[in-house]
Amino acid sequence: MMQRTQGLVIRVSDWSETSRLATIWTRDFGKLRVLAKGGRRLKSNFEIALDLLNWCSIVVIRKSPGAMDLLIEAQVLEGFPELRRQLPALYAGYYLAELLGEGTMDDDPHPNLLDEAVGALRDFGGAGERLGLRVASFELALLSELGYRPRLTHCVDCGRSIKPGEGLYYHPVAGGMICPGCRERRRGGMFLNGVVWHRLQELLANPTAWRSGPTESRAVRVVTESAITHWLGRRPRLSPYLSSWR
Ligand SMILES: [Zn+2]
Repeated sequence: MMQRTQGLVIRVSDWSETSRLATIWTRDFGKLRVLAKGGRRLKSNFEIALDLLNWCSIVVIRKSPGAMDLLIEAQVLEGFPELRRQLPALYAGYYLAELLGEGTMDDDPHPNLLDEAVGALRDFGGAGERLGLRVASFELALLSELGYRPRLTHCVDCGRSIKPGEGLYYHPVAGGMICPGCRERRRGGMFLNGVVWHRLQELLANPTAWRSGPTESRAVRVVTESAITHWLGRRPRLSPYLSSWR
């Protein structure tokens, strides 16, 4: 059955002399692995469209489960040129593609998350010194959309409200803050300063909060990266490339 949708190209590899294999994170079907026949030989629209991090309009023929879907049309809607002019921003884009590709299942669409991803790719190129905070904003949106939203205002274990005066203890495995009474049972957490704790709440509540206010990128990303690492089950491969500016 032939179907049209939009999607972000998150992985491309050669399949044979004449075809390419692409992973496209689509609005309607979630992560799709598609075969593009003639993608290399013909220098067709495929050649241009199937570039990593391109936002495309595509037509696929969906096969039965187990068989590979066929990509029969692809046109670039947006190529994020600003992103590709700066290495830190480009690495942030590759990182985003890794999280979408490795952290989600096939055929599990999340249109809100896709919109978040496209918005982040639009912002990365111009974010400058706020790039780390913009990445953190996307990480938090992803965790929220997939059911791993960090709990910051109440203790994960007992539900008691968190009071900054008692020390702010964040635990990535627990998925949020731990109150003093529950701390003894939860080793391996980290203490946050009040600015970082507030910043995390602002970023969770407001998708444009990264644009203003204190940056605190490095300290914020220590928290978001630990949450991402726990969610993914390992440290993302691109993480070392982000650490210079996080
Ligand atoms: Zn507690």
